[in-house]
This record gives sequence, structure tokens and C-alpha cells, in this order.
Amino acid sequence: MSDIDGDALLARMGTGVDQLRGRLRTNQPLSDYTWFRVGGPAELYFVPADVADLQVFLKLLPEDVPVHVMGLASNSLIRDGGLKGALVRLTSRPFNDGKVQLDMPRIRAGTGMADRKLAAIARDAGLGGFHFYHGIPGSLGGALRMNAGANGVETTDRLVSVDAVNRQGELVTLDHEAMGFTYRHSAAPEDLVFVSALFEGVPAPREEIEAAMDTVQTHREENQPIKERTSGSTFKNPSGGSAWKCIDAAGLRGFQVGGAQMSPMHCNFMINMGDATAYDLESLGETVRKRVYEHSGTLLQWEGKRMGLFTNGKVVETFRP
Ligand SMILES: Cc1cc2nc3c(=O)[nH]c(=O)nc-3n(C[C@H](O)[C@H](O)[C@H](O)COP(=O)(O)OP(=O)(O)OC[C@H]3O[C@@H](n4cnc5c(N)ncnc54)[C@H](O)[C@@H]3O)c2cc1C
Repeated sequence: MSDIDGDALLARMGTGVDQLRGRLRTNQPLSDYTWFRVGGPAELYFVPADVADLQVFLKLLPEDVPVHVMGLASNSLIRDGGLKGALVRLTSRPFNDGKVQLDMPRIRAGTGMADRKLAAIARDAGLGGFHFYHGIPGSLGGALRMNAGANGVETTDRLVSVDAVNRQGELVTLDHEAMGFTYRHSAAPEDLVFVSALFEGVPAPREEIEAAMDTVQTHREENQPIKERTSGSTFKNPSGGSAWKCIDAAGLRGFQVGGAQMSPMHCNFMINMGDATAYDLESLGETVRKRVYEHSGTLLQWEGKRMGLFTNGKVVETFRP
């Protein structure tokens, strides 16, 4: 029997759910929403109509129920057994309508907005420093959680403050320090749902910004499997080194487990070749961690987020030396 029972969870929330204005579903399949195109269902799935709706939802949700957030799922591996608890997605217009508040050189946007869109809006406004977002296929919410970065710039370099809703349904503001950014990580409490963010750029000529964005795009097309079912870099770069070099040196470029493969084009990118399960992808990742350790003594750390339940007794053990 599946551990996922959205209807039972919904019943626990009582009639208060009638006041919600967003989209609420039970046992919602997720694989179509993820870049990897794998993963089981979310027990409870909620797309709030706006911030107030999200606050009501979180207040109604029993305290013991875990809350997950999904952006554009370009750095998430959802396991085949699905997600226990509630999943929030900020895809409705107030989080994602392309409207920004521009007060040069600052810009505020909803966290459901794609990074690429913010880069384009900033370019059109003559606001430099956001070109790196042009190549990152996630949402601003994911960028904040992951401290997404490329081309020598990271989210931490542009961020001023974040508005978020906590597990109690209260709206809180975090300044830059409270976000606790390090390499591909924010130490902000895991239960926060980021709803909008204030960034600061540097005024620059539009042509200059456009040229920087073109460079980003060309580099990606030539060096990364950006049209594949992937989640970008599988592992963080070890201190002073490159994850891909460790993987390559261990002879694992193109290495496969089931339908999952370390990309022949960029061997730190894991790809779903068509029929991979989340189990295949995670097994591949752990096998690579083990083989790289055996080859060079380097213990790679996952960059992407893995979440959810294993299924049918197929559990992937974490490699520990
Ligand atoms: C082809 C490709 C290239 C990539 N290149 C890069 C790169 O150059 N640099 C880089 O840093 N990354 C890169 N990535 C990885 C990925 O795009 C980034 O990490 C991105 O920031 C993830 O955003 P997302 O919306 O897809 O997040 P998701 O994968 O949906 O979520 C990632 C994490 O963020 C959390 N999260 C999402 N939204 C919110 C929110 N509103 N509030 C709170 N938490 C939230 C999730 O719970 C999860 O823990 C690449 C991925 C691909 C597929």
C-alpha cells in the first residue's frame, strides 16, 4: 500500500480549506513538472492564489505535516514514492506575472519568476549584474535556496532582502545576513517559503548587458547538455577542484545505471536517457560518489536536492567511506 494518502490529509484540515482560493489537489503526479521527468506524487499539492492565501493554508495545515516547496524543479530529484506532506508551488500570477518594482538600482520580484525573465527585465531597464541568471533555468525561489550562480556571480552578490512565509503562516523579512549564503546553499530555515526578493544591480548600457548574456548562452550551448532531462551540476565542486574533473579521471564520463547516465558532454551533469526512474538516477549518483572516492579520495557532495520516499523496497544507500 502506498504511504501517500492525500485524501486522509485533506480530511484532517477540516472545512477551513473552503476559504482557500488557490489550487488544492491530492495525490498530484509531479514528474511532468520536473526537469528530470521522474518522481512520484505529492500527497497534498497547493498553488496559492497569493501571499495571503498561502498564509491561510499554512495556518490550517496540521503542525506535524511537512511542507516542501518546488520552483521549476531544475535542481530537484523527487523519489519514485512521492512526497509525504504538502507541496507548495508559486506558479500563480502574483508570484510570477513578470511585474517588478524597479527603483534603480534596486528591483523587487516574485519568487515564482524564472531567473531568465529577471535577467531580461533588468537588461531592458539598463540594470547590469543579472546576466548570469540568463543561463540558469530555475525560479528566483530556487536561486535563493541554492545561492544559484554562474560566470563568477552568485545570488548572494545581488540580494538585499527576502520576504517569506514561515510554517506558522507569518510573513517575515530576512536581510542578506539572515539568508546565510555559502556555496550553493542558504542557511535560512528550511520551512520558509520565499515569496518575493529585493535585489540590487549596477546600472550599465543595455548593449553591454546583452553581450554578456549572449556570452553566457553560447558557452552553455557549447559545453552543457541543456536540452536533456537533467538538473545541472550533480555535485558541488570540491574545495580547490572541479567535480567533473574528478568524475572524468575516475573513468565515469558516460557511465550508466539503468536509464540514467553521467552526460558524455559534461560529466557532472546526470541525465535521464528516457526511461530512468528516480531510483536509477540516485543509484548512479551514489555509485559515482563511491567510485570517485576510491579513485582519488575525494568525497563528492550532492548539489541538487533529493526528496521524498523510496518505493517497492528499492532504497538507495548513501555512500559513506
Ligand atoms: C541545464 C541546467 C543548467 C544549470 N546551471 C546552473 C548554474 O549554472 N548555476 C546554478 O547555480 N545552478 C544551475 N542549475 C541548477 C538549477 O537551475 C538552480 O539550482 C536553480 O536555482 C534551481 O531553481 P528551481 O526553481 O528549479 O529550484 P527547485 O529545483 O524547484 O528547488 C531547489 C530548492 O529550492 C527550494 N525552493 C524553490 N523555490 C522556493 C521558494 N519559493 N521558497 C523556498 N524554497 C524554494 C526547493 O524547496 C529546493 O530545496 C542548472 C540546472 C539545469 C537543468
